[in-house]
Amino acid sequence: MWYYEALFNDVRLALEGKLIYGEKTPYQNLQIYQTSRLGKILVLDKMTQTAEKDEFIYHEMVTHPLLLTHPRPEKVLIIGAGDGGVLREVLKHDVKQAYLVEIDERVINLSIKYLPSLSKGAFSDKRTRLIIADGAQFIRQTREKFDVVIIDSPDPVGMAKVLFTRNFYVNIFSILGSSGMMIRQTGSTMFQPNELQENYRIMKKIFPFVTPQLAAVPTYIGGFFSFIIGSKKINPPDVPYKLIAKRYAKSRLNTKYYNPDIHFASMKLPNYLRRVAQ
Ligand code: SAM
Repeated sequence: MWYYEALFNDVRLALEGKLIYGEKTPYQNLQIYQTSRLGKILVLDKMTQTAEKDEFIYHEMVTHPLLLTHPRPEKVLIIGAGDGGVLREVLKHDVKQAYLVEIDERVINLSIKYLPSLSKGAFSDKRTRLIIADGAQFIRQTREKFDVVIIDSPDPVGMAKVLFTRNFYVNIFSILGSSGMMIRQTGSTMFQPNELQENYRIMKKIFPFVTPQLAAVPTYIGGFFSFIIGSKKINPPDVPYKLIAKRYAKSRLNTKYYNPDIHFASMKLPNYLRRVAQ
């Protein structure tokens, strides 16, 4: 049996595997496949969200560059991310509170059941505050301030569209502390080139420092996958290597992909992307 992703009209990820669970939640069509190459995968509305085998690349890269760049990240807000992978990585740091705002509670419960290695108990950590709500609405209404905001959303379709608008970024800016920073994924640089460019342009009008970051994640087909960082006070590429290496060693992070060399290498862009990020 084969799983075919329906993200693009003209390119397809096809994996040998079988459907082990499927449910229409109040928000989306959720499926879990067991694949031979990438382990179990979580699929929402026929779009691959994450895979057991390579999730560590994405989850480490949306977490550690920011948590080691911020001088004292105590309070972190995560939007989406119901599989728990980002929360697991955030809680490796000495943070005081990690809020996770996910719209669909079924994603959390079914990920804990079928993909337990993603959250690894993170939802039961006493620093976790779980909120079932629309992330855009939460950010608009909250009076809390955060040091780091991580947006781990699907691609900009359906209910995730609000997580890509100018207003959304303006509201994030206002709930960030003075050294605050945010990160989000902006898709494949080759197959979804507009995502990086459009988000870069919007964020550049709001944040003093905007930095794209790259990593290749096999599950997200199309070569380099992109992320974008918005920062209020600190320009991530300007932080001394020694400082990041010192913080990395002190935190005793157990990482499979991230290290201080990758931290800085991931912010270097090939020429075709330098033009996009202008
Ligand atoms: N890492 C994946 C990717 O890059 O495609 C995303 C995985 S995570 C499971 C995405 C989560 O965002 C889903 O569980 C979905 O329910 C949630 N989500 C979508 N729109 C949302 C919104 N407006 N507010 C909060 N969560 C949202």
